[in-house]
Amino acid sequence: MTPLRGTEPLVERLSAAIRDVPDFPRPGILFKDITPLLADGELFRAACDALAAPYDDEEITHVVAVESRGFILGAPIAHRFGAGFVPVRKSGKLPHVTHRETYALEYGSDELEIHADALRPGDRVVIVDDVLATGGTAAATCRLVDALGATVIGCSFLVELGFLSGGEAIAGRRRHALLVY
Ligand code: AMP
Repeated sequence: MTPLRGTEPLVERLSAAIRDVPDFPRPGILFKDITPLLADGELFRAACDALAAPYDDEEITHVVAVESRGFILGAPIAHRFGAGFVPVRKSGKLPHVTHRETYALEYGSDELEIHADALRPGDRVVIVDDVLATGGTAAATCRLVDALGATVIGCSFLVELGFLSGGEAIAGRRRHALLVY
């Protein structure tokens, strides 16, 4: 892992580089905007390293990430592991045969898809996303990996919104978050 310049701990620098945007995309939501973090090259690399590090000795074969911010973090983590990258996308975006999972939103539901041939039994997967909120997205992504017969070794998030209890949605799965609010 490349050491950070300066003395401020990584967690504090990450926290300072994530911008709170009130009432986006809807009234009442406090949006965690990670674009200032992504724009800081040293911090972006340190964040990806820290998200990956818990799984360094786990012989990870694939990183699975959810569009769109998950892709930004997941791809460099896959590169670091020398692992494959597998995108999970909203319904209708992936071109080939897919497996689909429905998950609950605050109002209504949504669907996520993975290419049916993207993973196979024996594959060892880390799931990466920017924010764990209610956990619906992460739980559906775990189910997609399970459905293809691969193994979820764990999940890594930049931010966990602890007050939304997303950890309960993926109870029993190993999870790491760099920042918990
Ligand atoms: P959830 O399924 O409720 O855990 O929501 C997680 C997904 O929604 C992640 O892909 C996040 O990118 C996004 N998300 C949810 N809440 C927020 C938030 N407050 N700020 C930024 N992104 C969020």
